[in-house]
Amino acid sequence: MERTILAGALLLDGSGGPPVAARSVVVENGRIAAVVAAAAAPSGTTLRLDGLTLLPGLINCHVHLCFGGDADPAAVMMRESYPSTVIRAVLRARATVEAGITTVRDLGGRDYAELSVRDAIRQGLIAGPRVLCAGKGVCMTGGHGWNMIGREADGPDDVRKAVREQLKAGADVIKIFATGGVMTVGVDPTSAQLTLDEVRAAIEEARKAGRRTAAHAMGTDGIANCLEGGITTIEHGVFLTEALCQRMARDGVALVPTLIAPHAIAAGGLQAGIPEYAVRKSLAVRDRHLDGFRLALRHGVPIAAGADAGTPLNPHGSLVPELDLMVKGGMTPLAAIASATVTAARALGLEHETGRIAPSLAADLLAVAGNPAESLQALDDVRLVLAQGRVVVNRLTPR
Ligand SMILES: [Zn+2]
Repeated sequence: MERTILAGALLLDGSGGPPVAARSVVVENGRIAAVVAAAAAPSGTTLRLDGLTLLPGLINCHVHLCFGGDADPAAVMMRESYPSTVIRAVLRARATVEAGITTVRDLGGRDYAELSVRDAIRQGLIAGPRVLCAGKGVCMTGGHGWNMIGREADGPDDVRKAVREQLKAGADVIKIFATGGVMTVGVDPTSAQLTLDEVRAAIEEARKAGRRTAAHAMGTDGIANCLEGGITTIEHGVFLTEALCQRMARDGVALVPTLIAPHAIAAGGLQAGIPEYAVRKSLAVRDRHLDGFRLALRHGVPIAAGADAGTPLNPHGSLVPELDLMVKGGMTPLAAIASATVTAARALGLEHETGRIAPSLAADLLAVAGNPAESLQALDDVRLVLAQGRVVVNRLTPR
């Protein structure tokens, strides 16, 4: 048996409490075996983490591994060969895990390339985070997502078929497009798209297969349809209302805000080469987006961190830009970290696998210099990353 002891760090175990000192984390066979008082640590290979904070590997609940944060991702995908997309997705997965993100949920890629990346990571062929994949998102004909990551479907029967196709391809989660959005020309973020009957059909098919669901949902009516249908997570949630937040809090439906996505587009603007329609719509929703987030926070809606990584000027890797905006919206740094660990794990159904430092969970661990509970920027000073027990970053000074 292989045993590693992580000693000397401040421990932020993901339970939401402040960091504690004088604990050691015992890792055996890729899992956390115990968290013990430093003096009681068993024998084994010891890694000294003095001056560092040890926390659970982070979780990004909304990424697109097949997109790289280019100004116009659709245009890039149109001219890029499929094998090239795969190679780039592999590199993005590596950059992600090297930033201390040990789990991601991919909510739309390119002809299932991201599922192959997921499988290659699972098989240990390449380094990367644990990946949950949605395959193609189900959208209405001409609706948001149709031109890039969507599978168009109209009417409950066709929606069922579309969901079944994703399950057949190996999807871990089902994504639907309930409203218009920013990155598709000619659709309005405030308008509902799939009907309530279609939303219900999608969620029912997913449930039958034991899968959770995620909805791209910006406008009020579309969010309401998703809550009525029993969705697991609301992505973006721009036009949330008080009543919708109360319902989400009551039903335990998590919000994945992705504040950085329209923020990065609005900040980059036309001069960065971002399409005009995306800039215009991002400017229109950006402030309301932060208001919706604040409303959710005030009502106790579970908030799971997700960056929509891959959208314009929103590259894969660090979650800090997203967490910073969440702090700007009223969260404490500690709460923002919880949203990227324990709350995210719950939203994805992985609470018995990751998201905390506790016995029997996977050894998904991140050590950073300084104390991220005081300053989130510390999360960017990565010194050690273990992903399911495998060391993917080790910048510890040898001693
Ligand atoms: Zn997205």
